[in-house]
Amino acid sequence: MGIIEDALNKNWRQAIEFSKGTCSYCGIDLLLNRLLYATMQLDHIFPRSKYPDLIDDSNNLALSCAYCNHSKRDFDPAELKGEPSMLSQNDSKAKLLKMISEVKHLNLQNSSAQFLKNETFYLEVLKHYLPKFYSQEPT
Ligand SMILES: [Zn+2]
Repeated sequence: MGIIEDALNKNWRQAIEFSKGTCSYCGIDLLLNRLLYATMQLDHIFPRSKYPDLIDDSNNLALSCAYCNHSKRDFDPAELKGEPSMLSQNDSKAKLLKMISEVKHLNLQNSSAQFLKNETFYLEVLKHYLPKFYSQEPT
């Protein structure tokens, strides 16, 4: 593997280890099933738009579900008196993530409701299309 692939894998591995495979914001277990696994994202804790220096800093990455990453968007932890120096210590990084979760209302209730909605959507799509596939004569 090349340098870029190695770095990407290192970032993912580090983020997964840090949060033990759960979303850093709502705590949903992203290793529970394939649907959740597929929603895994790496969130830039201090947003890329405002902190270009931290784009490649693995300490600035947090494992996140798609819902939380999308909800957090460009929220700047500086609004909570957060500083990039907090990222280098596991305790203060965890504390910062918790503060962000609270202020952005990122919790299991909100994220799982969103996932249920998505799953219902996929089931509707399947219900719509599957009968059409099954009714086709094999060629
Ligand atoms: Zn989440």
